[in-house]
Amino acid sequence: MRFVRFFVILAVFAVGLFSPDPSHGSGAVIGLPLDICILRARPDMTPRNLFAEPQRFDCTTPQRDFGDGDFWVMSQFLGNLASARGRNAVRIDNLWEERITLYALYPDGTIRGWPYDQRAKSRHTELGAMVQWSLPSGYGTPQRLLWRIEGSANIRGIIGDARLATRPEGARANLVMGSVYSAFGGLCAALLVYNLAMWAALRHRFQLAYCAMVIALGGYAFTSSGAIAWCWPDMPVNDRARLNYILLACTVSSALVFARGFFGDRVGGVWMTRLSNIFIAALGISTAAFVVLTPWHITLLDNIVSLCFAAILPLIVAIIWTAWRQKSPYLWLFSLAWLAPVLSATLRIGASLNLWPGSFWIDNSTIGAMACEAVISTLAVVYRIRAISRERDEARAHELAARMLADTDPLTGLLNRRAFLARATRRGGMQTLFLADLDHFKQVNETLGHDGGDDVLRVFARTLRASAPDSALVARIGGEEFAIIQPKSAAIDPEELLTRLRTARMPFDISVTASIGVCSGPLTNEVDWKRLYHCADRALYAAKAAGRDRARRAEEVSVAA
Ligand code: GH3
Ligand code: MG
Ligand code: MG
Repeated sequence: MRFVRFFVILAVFAVGLFSPDPSHGSGAVIGLPLDICILRARPDMTPRNLFAEPQRFDCTTPQRDFGDGDFWVMSQFLGNLASARGRNAVRIDNLWEERITLYALYPDGTIRGWPYDQRAKSRHTELGAMVQWSLPSGYGTPQRLLWRIEGSANIRGIIGDARLATRPEGARANLVMGSVYSAFGGLCAALLVYNLAMWAALRHRFQLAYCAMVIALGGYAFTSSGAIAWCWPDMPVNDRARLNYILLACTVSSALVFARGFFGDRVGGVWMTRLSNIFIAALGISTAAFVVLTPWHITLLDNIVSLCFAAILPLIVAIIWTAWRQKSPYLWLFSLAWLAPVLSATLRIGASLNLWPGSFWIDNSTIGAMACEAVISTLAVVYRIRAISRERDEARAHELAARMLADTDPLTGLLNRRAFLARATRRGGMQTLFLADLDHFKQVNETLGHDGGDDVLRVFARTLRASAPDSALVARIGGEEFAIIQPKSAAIDPEELLTRLRTARMPFDISVTASIGVCSGPLTNEVDWKRLYHCADRALYAAKAAGRDRARRAEEVSVAA
């Protein structure tokens, strides 16, 4: 069944997420942004002599140009900044490094330091994956801040989005990010339940791929938001980043498997299967290499993973284009639904490859894209379900009509012999069979012509049907021979039937009579039927022999014989 096409929501979210930027924070924009300058670390440097010589720091070279290694990062002078007063929370993006220490220089010349290793960083992770130091409030506003960063991978910078915030600002940022990620989690949960239910009903394998994609995506949101650090505070942050890479790769791979199963041959066909296989293999190998080998050649490995993710874009664009050209409004809706995630993916990949600066909005664009996609896809589903319902109703009507046609005698509209027999033997119990045969019908044909004879047959059939109770089966079983089956206990009187036939208004007002043979007996199978039929036929023959326009019961015939 095709209508589940809408699952195409596709790579979509996945794609939206796939700029692998797991070491990058995406916290809400709050507080006072800090200007920072950088100095490559040498063994003889100490916080005290660096605080004394801020001019040694480089404030203009882009961070990525420094390469990896150990660094010192200095903030601007904060002593005369009113907006820095009371802002005791220092927040930075979570980037890949081995260890980071924050030093603060206070007005009295005191220098205090707070080292964060991998685990401490994890324990001080806020929602949005920001690392936060809460400075003690008793020392006044720091004059300057200085970070010592050891083992920076510098994939997306040495230090990201450094800010000073008040504690309430920090709490509000957590609330905002908590709401955003809860909404995202709710959306994932709803999509998962919905698609599992659809899978239970339809059993398409691509539905399972879709569910896998939603699970991986939800997992990615859980790890990349930093929420995982709240649940497992002792997990080293770089391991959390490795987990992000794995979940992203799973998301995109299952999205591709889904797309492949969903579109089948209609979009892409063999080339799509081949390309997606290559893509999944490349992504799997590069992700595994990143997870196992880092921090060895981390920049190179990260670029390879990024390029593998980027390689899917042309594939997705090609799928959208092919779907668009199918000229089906349903596929158009899906193509439209894809646009937002593809745009989001492009933005994120560009930011990850440093083609343009990343931002809070780009980092979180996936959520908006996913919501957009889900809404448009739902419309596509509604559209498709409506079309399916219409198709089903039409098919049902056709089937009913075909069955009616197969069971009905075309001239009179009564049951034909085959359908009559099939239904009669299903009734069980004692039944009474009437065989009614028009008298001298050959003469009717000779008088009125064959068409006139047909009209007589139609009126005769209508009269029979109207005279018999609704529960009776009435059929035309031969040229001008009719049968009625009814339960013996509720059988009508054949004399009454004859009277109604005599008084029925026939074409050209000719008068027509019939003879009736009646026989009762069990009727559960074909053998019973044959016996009953011969018995009624004998009675009919007797009625004809006795002068026609009368009824004979089998019992009377036997007695007479
Ligand atoms: P009897 O009273 O002995 O039954 O005489 P009869 O003329 O009715 O019986 P017979 O079996 O000799 O002839 C039946 C005629 O019914 C012959 C045939 O042309 C005619 N007939 C059979 N089927 C049709 C039909 O579909 N339409 C018309 N117009 N005539 C039919
Ligand atoms: Mg006849
Ligand atoms: Mg006959």
